[in-house]
Amino acid sequence: MAKFYSKAETMSREELRKLQEKKALEMVRHAYENSPYYHRKFDEAGIKPGDIKNLDDFFKKVPFTSKHELVSSQREHPPFGEFLAVPREKLRLVFISPGPIFEPYTAKDLESTRKNMAKGLISGGVQEGDIIQITLSYHFMPAGLFAHMAAEETGLCVIPAGTGETRMQIDFMRKLGTKIYAGTPSFLARLAEEAQKMGLDPKKDLNLRIGICGAEPLPPDLRKKLQDIFGIELFDAYGVAELGVMTRECQYHNGMHINEEMYLLEIVDPNTLERVEPGEEGEIVATPFERDALPLLRYRTGDASVLTEEICKCGRTEARILGIRGRVDMLTKVKGVFIHPKQAQDVVSHYPELGRIQIIVERPGDYDEMTILVEGKDPSKFGEWENKLKEEFRQALRIKTNVKMVKVGEIPADARVLEDRRKHYAR
Ligand SMILES: [Zn+2]
Repeated sequence: MAKFYSKAETMSREELRKLQEKKALEMVRHAYENSPYYHRKFDEAGIKPGDIKNLDDFFKKVPFTSKHELVSSQREHPPFGEFLAVPREKLRLVFISPGPIFEPYTAKDLESTRKNMAKGLISGGVQEGDIIQITLSYHFMPAGLFAHMAAEETGLCVIPAGTGETRMQIDFMRKLGTKIYAGTPSFLARLAEEAQKMGLDPKKDLNLRIGICGAEPLPPDLRKKLQDIFGIELFDAYGVAELGVMTRECQYHNGMHINEEMYLLEIVDPNTLERVEPGEEGEIVATPFERDALPLLRYRTGDASVLTEEICKCGRTEARILGIRGRVDMLTKVKGVFIHPKQAQDVVSHYPELGRIQIIVERPGDYDEMTILVEGKDPSKFGEWENKLKEEFRQALRIKTNVKMVKVGEIPADARVLEDRRKHYAR
């Protein structure tokens, strides 16, 4: 089977950029001409599709789209909202994603979804005739159905297992010799437990070679654990229900390649909405190129990551994102550095005598100041803790912070973990 699914995977960066430019301009035109929502949005901003002549114009002029806009448009104009850009008789499938948002697909949308997902399977090294067991949902939120279409496209033999039925899943794996698992990491962990309960050794008694994971995070420790238990290689992917699966890993597992012939992916500073340089962290913003029914321009995902354009050893020239670093509403920039509350929580979680934390960011004068409140059980040791934690937080967060110990219960139950009191950062 071919190593690459499409020509675009190994094009030069310039060729790829040209292709993206052409597709981005087409998308702008489609959105403006056919979606009443974008038509009005462009008119209000005083922009015509003709003003967008290249990618620079696109980045400078095309307004961002938020999930909130999509949800409210569907609420006000049910069921599909004013984003809909095709006549209803063109629709061939509708599913629902969290929001709730109705996601309408035309035949063209389904075809590009099939190709997009197939590219992901090929990157994972599937072979023709491999048996793939798809344990994702087939109904209402049909990641399973989409994976199924991709498996057909790549010449695999599908077990359309769907969710649940743990024992039957294992039985099928064993009797049919399933080679490829497609599903969430947490369900794979459940299968391991169940197999062990059934007296099986997942590594010896099952034949899995590859796991295509998605729909939830795959932290390194869980990945290692599952790989050891099953003796398989796991491949992570990242997608958003409204946009599809945009990235997937190759055999080098050094970040996730963006399907750049189908998506224009940008990283922006979530506060200023300025695009940041490769290597800098920010919010993932994406424009899918092949969206017929529901075009979305510069859609804000709310997820944080870092992009790199360094060429990967696999030969693909497509840029990569280096993991998902959390939600942007859970992080903020202090003294130019992104602060993830989870990093601070991880420090504290090692000590049973400590409780909850709250991070307070202020700007009393010209400079940012950060204080982390930490609940402790023994007030006589607060001084000691403050010194110790100051150093540990500095290492974990990469900037200096004040630490203030407080009694357990002093941080209000409904307090935000991260409280940004700087005026211009108010959300
Ligand atoms: Zn690669």
